[in-house]
Amino acid sequence: MAADTAPPFAPCSSPLPAMSMNYTPILDAIRRDLQPHLGSGRVADYIPELAKVRADHFGMAIVTVDGQVYRTGDADVRFSIQSISKLFACTLAFQLLGDALWERVGREPSGTAFNSLVQLEFEAGKPRNPFINAGALVVTDVLCRRFVQAETALVDFVRRLSGEAGIGYDLRVAQSELAHAERNRAMAHFIASFGNLEMPADTVIDAYCRQCAIEMSCVELARAALFLANGGVSPASGESVLDASSAKRLSALMLTCGTYDAAGDFVYRVGLPAKSGVGGGIVAVLPGEFAVCVWSPGLDATGNSAVGSLALEWLTTRIGRSIF
Ligand code: GLN
Repeated sequence: MAADTAPPFAPCSSPLPAMSMNYTPILDAIRRDLQPHLGSGRVADYIPELAKVRADHFGMAIVTVDGQVYRTGDADVRFSIQSISKLFACTLAFQLLGDALWERVGREPSGTAFNSLVQLEFEAGKPRNPFINAGALVVTDVLCRRFVQAETALVDFVRRLSGEAGIGYDLRVAQSELAHAERNRAMAHFIASFGNLEMPADTVIDAYCRQCAIEMSCVELARAALFLANGGVSPASGESVLDASSAKRLSALMLTCGTYDAAGDFVYRVGLPAKSGVGGGIVAVLPGEFAVCVWSPGLDATGNSAVGSLALEWLTTRIGRSIF
């Protein structure tokens, strides 16, 4: 929906100064103006447990690199992060392997749906990028090889990044996806047939479904992604997650690949590197300034949050800031 939904306000003509900015009134205004759109899109139902989530939730949070938190609506309600986990999994794998990761996963936008199999045959089992399912399965394979329980390593990682020890994954969502994972299973076995999995496909699928079922709120996700806006250093933990150059590279991949086959349109509208998930969350970063997360469960045809994309479009339009 809504690629052409005009904002109900005049776009900002000169950028507002960022660091001293109070984003709360802007977030509240976006939430108010979005009311007529709430509930639009379709909640993901191919994972039955996700279909139980109400479509009219809306939350949004901005966390700045100097530690200010701005929030509106359901910003503190935890939801299923789904493919946003691919961002954190890829960060861990990139930490472990560095550039060797790219021998097994590409860095090009796919132009196909997040769960598509078509390119794998032509491209000999090397997925286009780490943010589509095929690429994430290879990334999860890297983690399964390194950690006894990849999903536990990932949960520990997002707990550290967000400073929230209570984060975990929802076993019911994981089991619901595991019971309906034929497509991802097929993909994993197909990749394995090309020799691009080191661990058994079923081990990888199990860890993948659990990591997708991690639950976090907008505030927690914005905090966890903030290292990307802060030269690779997590302000919450002080941890140097990635060197500045690697953080730049990961953000670049989010820009070109983070919203699947909608990446071009999303960047056109929003102008920020972002990663979405079928739980309806989208996390985005404005380097040097903030990380933002929005949650609204109704999805558009590409599997990105319909209202969430609109909210981010309105945010960058209102504040007159993006990476461009
Ligand atoms: N767990 C979901 C799947 O593999 C994640 C997809 C998504 O969020 N785009 O289908």
